[in-house]
Amino acid sequence: MRYLSTRNKSVRFSAADAITLGLARDGGLFVPEILPRLTLNSIKSMCDMSYQQRTVYVMSPFLDDFTASEIGTFASKAYSSTSFDVPEIAPIRAVDDATFFLELWHGPTSAFKDMALQMLPHLLTASLTKKAEKKDVCILVATSGDTGKAALEGFKNVDRTKILVFYPRDGVSDVQKLQMVTQNGDNVGVCAVEGNFDDAQNGVKEIFSDEALREELAAKGYFLSSANSINWGRLLPQIVYYISAYCDLVKTKRIAAGDSVNVCVPTGNFGNILAAYYAKAMGLPIAKLICASNSNNVLTDFINTGTYNRNREFFTTISPSMDILISSNLERLLFEFSGKDDSETRRYMEQLNKSGSYTVGPIVKKRLDEHFWGGYCDDVKTKLVIEAVYQKYNYLIDPHTAVGYDVLNHYRHDTGDTAPAVIASTASPYKFCDSVLSALGEKTDESGLALIDRLAALTGTTPPRPLTELKNKKVRFSQSTPKEEMKQIVEGFLK
Ligand SMILES: *Cc1c(COP(=O)(O)O)cnc(C)c1O
Repeated sequence: MRYLSTRNKSVRFSAADAITLGLARDGGLFVPEILPRLTLNSIKSMCDMSYQQRTVYVMSPFLDDFTASEIGTFASKAYSSTSFDVPEIAPIRAVDDATFFLELWHGPTSAFKDMALQMLPHLLTASLTKKAEKKDVCILVATSGDTGKAALEGFKNVDRTKILVFYPRDGVSDVQKLQMVTQNGDNVGVCAVEGNFDDAQNGVKEIFSDEALREELAAKGYFLSSANSINWGRLLPQIVYYISAYCDLVKTKRIAAGDSVNVCVPTGNFGNILAAYYAKAMGLPIAKLICASNSNNVLTDFINTGTYNRNREFFTTISPSMDILISSNLERLLFEFSGKDDSETRRYMEQLNKSGSYTVGPIVKKRLDEHFWGGYCDDVKTKLVIEAVYQKYNYLIDPHTAVGYDVLNHYRHDTGDTAPAVIASTASPYKFCDSVLSALGEKTDESGLALIDRLAALTGTTPPRPLTELKNKKVRFSQSTPKEEMKQIVEGFLK
């Protein structure tokens, strides 16, 4: 399988290239040249496999420079019983006959980012070896909260790698921040940015396109790569769990093989839902992809109107990992929907850069309508939903997942389509204790950590161990930087 850039499809890259580079030199994102075909028979044959085996089955055709046995080793390391607290890795929780939460937060950092970031370091270090790359890699991450910690956990103490994480100073929860600033490992760095997530992400993008810096770092024996969801090595492991979820629904007889399901994903950077789209494009029987946003509803408007316009007020919400106005992975979808037209894709991205907005042509819009449905849910409603789901089903969900659940209900109500639906449950409720407790009508006047105990006592549920252990950890990183000076932080880190 070869990969192309969304902004120049005339050059072909290997999987190892795409994974080590992260982003193409022309600013485009790597996409597979063709998608492997998933037949109903192959889906059926996966039903009796473990999650790790399903990973090998799905990922292998995308990674033909790796052997199945290599990928098998990566899968068993990434999805091991020491990192994940359930053997199913990504279990399904049914609350009624047709509504299935796909729990993606059983990994070391209690958010779905682990599903990809436990795998990416293995793919990346193996790619360095395959390419006989002499330089070491420095992973730069801009995080809206969950990616940073998941990347730190994935890359800590991994040979030939360093990792530096930037997070928006005022845009992450207490627990998220504490998870990052207490990170252990000899090759890690963490720094706050005085701005919001888009500032941090733009800063990182600028650093990536800085040729002089590239040469300076190369002289020191480093090159930069990304663990953001723009890296193909992040997206690929995410395709697996949608297929795996479908297999589990078949296996437990909730659906028959071949039945269509809808998939609803609380969305920020458009990575997770794009993985679901790829699963659909490969042949997984998904009918609608329901894109759920919070008050930063730029994607809802885009899906409904065909105009993407980031010129709008930015809201800090209780689902901070979705507080994003530029959804980077959308570029991959534009490329697919324009019939792999790199100049059309480039044009949209140039307009976005210049004026903050673009409008897609009729063909792209038609495809959007065919595959996607968009809706959003504000903070007030999000809290009501957390409370309602807890009361009705005795099931605790986090604010991101609550946004997904609410938008699925909108969809069902507006369209009358009540087909079985999978909701991506993207974080443990314990990661957002203050919002969850306040949704349940409790006081939240204590620190984030005390609230973990309070939520456990109130609901009789067990918090994830890595979160309860935070209280014994030392703060290692307290640096903060204006957004204009992120480059200097990188230079200092790689001195
Ligand atoms: C990252 C994240 C999201 C958004 O995922 P994207 O791939 O950026 O769309 C949603 N919920 C949680 C909890 C997250 O960490």
